[in-house]
Amino acid sequence: MRKLIINSLLSAGLAILFLAGVKPLQAHADNVIVCIDPGHGGEDQGASYSGYDEKDLDFKIATAMYEELSQYEGITVYMTRYGDDTLSLKQRAQIAAGYGAEFLYSIHINACDDHKMFGSEVWISAYGNHYAKGRSFGEIAENELESTVGVYSKGVKTKLSGNGKQDYYGIIRHARSNGVTGCIIEHCYMDNDHDIGYAFNDDILVQMGKADATSVAKYYGLKSTTLGKDYSGYKRAVYEAPKAPVRQDDTPPEYVNIELMEYNAAESTAKLHVWGKDSQTKIIYYNYSSDGGATWSPLHGWTAETEGYLTIPVSGPDVVIALYNRYCGGTESNHVILY
Ligand SMILES: [Zn+2]
Repeated sequence: MRKLIINSLLSAGLAILFLAGVKPLQAHADNVIVCIDPGHGGEDQGASYSGYDEKDLDFKIATAMYEELSQYEGITVYMTRYGDDTLSLKQRAQIAAGYGAEFLYSIHINACDDHKMFGSEVWISAYGNHYAKGRSFGEIAENELESTVGVYSKGVKTKLSGNGKQDYYGIIRHARSNGVTGCIIEHCYMDNDHDIGYAFNDDILVQMGKADATSVAKYYGLKSTTLGKDYSGYKRAVYEAPKAPVRQDDTPPEYVNIELMEYNAAESTAKLHVWGKDSQTKIIYYNYSSDGGATWSPLHGWTAETEGYLTIPVSGPDVVIALYNRYCGGTESNHVILY
């Protein structure tokens, strides 16, 4: 029965490949098998912004990833969809399992209700070996996107559902129940000025797909004669499978403090010494207000570990800063009064 399902899935995949004019590689016994999942598709357009549908952007990244990764030796690459098909999350996981894939990479571009966030993030399973492998891959992928494309890294994250008993994201949950390690790569935000230059640029989307392919090649230590790349000596981080699921950080940074270093009235700027702490997750964003918290600046990347110095433009006397962690929990600082 299982074999039959695999065969019919394979032939369905082959039929689609044939129609799309894409030639699949032959699987070898010693091959790694992976599956790329272009997010959304068909009736599900994903996020929409400024006339763009996420499903189309996801497909461009995924296709570039597929084409690049297929040129490495020792790996067979499939996609969950080769056209604009409507698929449930469960079907995607079943397709990956049917191909015998070890990893399922679900390719997405982000958006959020308040349009404030920017950057890339990788979501992984909170459980056991799926967590260990997901984290190792996710860290490579985040690093690769940041170093080659320049996207701000929000990090590798887990998220459990409300009852805390399973992975929150369906594609990761269904992958796990099918014995596949699933992850979601959110490449950038399509609804924030900081990232629109990435999301709506076809060349950048291709670069992102190639960066993802390089991450997989690094993770598995692959080489490609065609591409002239050899990652067989690459040492990836290896993590132990956690005994308990790795929970998300539900709490904001513990504290944020600011101290005025200098107020420049002529230039309307304030230099601040800022320090804050979140012992669970990294702090990744800051913003500021000079009207006592009534209005706030856009978010900026916070790259200092625990403390740093900021020079901010001010339009009022009452200055307050907020720092946000990877899960966007934010904490406001004390206020300093400039004049
Ligand atoms: Zn999406």
